[in-house]
Amino acid sequence: MVEELRGAEGKSMMNRRWWAGLAGLAGIAIPLLAADRLPGPRPRPGEEPERSPSYWMHTIPDLPRCPRVERDMHVDVAVIGGGFTGLAIAYYLKRNQPSLRVAVLEMQRMGSGASSRNSGAVGPRFRGQTLPSSADRGYQLLKAFAEIEDLGFDLVESVPALTLYTGRRVPPDAVLFGDELCEHIGSPFYSAASLRYTNTLHPGKLIAGLVEANRRHGVELYEWSPVLRIERGRGSEPITLHTPGGRVVARDVAVATNAYTPQLGLARDIIAVLHHRVIVTRSLTDDEWARSGLERWPIRFEEGGYYTHTVRGTPDRRFFYRHVLGHRVFERTTWPLDRHAREVGQRELIRRYPWLDGVAVEYEWHGVTARTRDWWPVAGRIDEHLYIAAGYNGSGVMPSHYFGYLIACSILGIPDHDMRLLRPPECHSRIPGEFARHLCFQGWMLYRRWRDARICHRYQ
Ligand SMILES: Cc1cc2nc3c(=O)[nH]c(=O)nc-3n(C[C@H](O)[C@H](O)[C@H](O)COP(=O)(O)OP(=O)(O)OC[C@H]3O[C@@H](n4cnc5c(N)ncnc54)[C@H](O)[C@@H]3O)c2cc1C
Repeated sequence: MVEELRGAEGKSMMNRRWWAGLAGLAGIAIPLLAADRLPGPRPRPGEEPERSPSYWMHTIPDLPRCPRVERDMHVDVAVIGGGFTGLAIAYYLKRNQPSLRVAVLEMQRMGSGASSRNSGAVGPRFRGQTLPSSADRGYQLLKAFAEIEDLGFDLVESVPALTLYTGRRVPPDAVLFGDELCEHIGSPFYSAASLRYTNTLHPGKLIAGLVEANRRHGVELYEWSPVLRIERGRGSEPITLHTPGGRVVARDVAVATNAYTPQLGLARDIIAVLHHRVIVTRSLTDDEWARSGLERWPIRFEEGGYYTHTVRGTPDRRFFYRHVLGHRVFERTTWPLDRHAREVGQRELIRRYPWLDGVAVEYEWHGVTARTRDWWPVAGRIDEHLYIAAGYNGSGVMPSHYFGYLIACSILGIPDHDMRLLRPPECHSRIPGEFARHLCFQGWMLYRRWRDARICHRYQ
């Protein structure tokens, strides 16, 4: 009898705990999810201070300046965003149908977003899906663009690229291990490396080439003309884009704003913005260059999803290093590069390459990437006259050009079997609201940094 009573008491206690736990979870989750729907202090397009140019933009002649939108105008197609995607859309529209009036509206300078701030790795592959024939077609299209327009962007093919692993994770196809790897790449941080081949290019030169080709074909380019609001017409009515200098009325509109897209109120629960910092050191001395191993292993990626690091050499023998800063709430696209951000980056760099301690950094910049849950771009038709291509998950140099081409074909009604690659917003899985997403990303970042520190201890 007593036993029975105890059993019943224990069960009701368990029940209460279970309900208390559930209530606690709901108490955290509901406000987090609800906060996303509140009119929070979201940044508005055009509020971002002028972006500092990257190393790539410092090493090409100044791009020609483009006018601002200063009056109302009517065009056939307006493209929002002057990066790799937007410039590719405009170019393929005009090349296929020269009679169209096409305008690109860029918030700051042409290419000043991720397109001029990346690591310049360009391979015939998509992140998130293996579609070798389409990926190769995308890469060939980029090469054909350069040939047809007689442009150069320092494309180097078949560059050995190491994928670096830490801890006990050793891939079956590893080619270098432990001490030997350390000797080859000048870093005691990694346990193994596998090898593939990729290609590299000069992102600044690709932007310059796209700008030149668009001008040549008569595309109207506008800088410092942020689109503040998209006013969709009913049915076949044109779309009105509101900019500080005037309204742009267009039959079709393509949104090519990548990580800035949520600021326009589009794909907010599909695209998450991740922030990165890149540094480029002074040119290395002969000894440092030999120690870095960059001559033989010129580009290196750390294995991982979100928390990854990239290292590459530059043509003038500098050490190029990209690390992840993290995530900010409300789709913010700026990150103050203050003492804290620099210290975090320096710590991570020195853990990996201790001999770089004291080597001066000559270029530094911030950049944003757009992440999706299924690692696939958000691309296609939003409605009858509104198109989108964004969300390349940090691997968009080739895909942005190819998806730009596919969006142009889609607008012009040109059939292409790779239209199957287009996956508009409704085909993507959602990501949790801003605050929940923020906690997840930042929690993951903290965990990975903690793990980093432990790896470092192993070698000291
Ligand atoms: C640090 C870093 C390293 C990377 N490394 C690589 C790499 O090695 N290989 C690779 O393949 N990819 C890499 N990427 C990703 C690659 O750079 C991007 O996927 C690609 O540049 C996306 O091009 P985009 O034109 O879509 O976006 P963006 O270049 O960001 O262009 C979007 C443009 O839209 C403009 N805009 C935004 N809002 C508005 C508005 N409201 N009105 C008007 N204009 C607006 C912005 O100013 C911006 O210029 C990296 C990215 C970063 C940040």
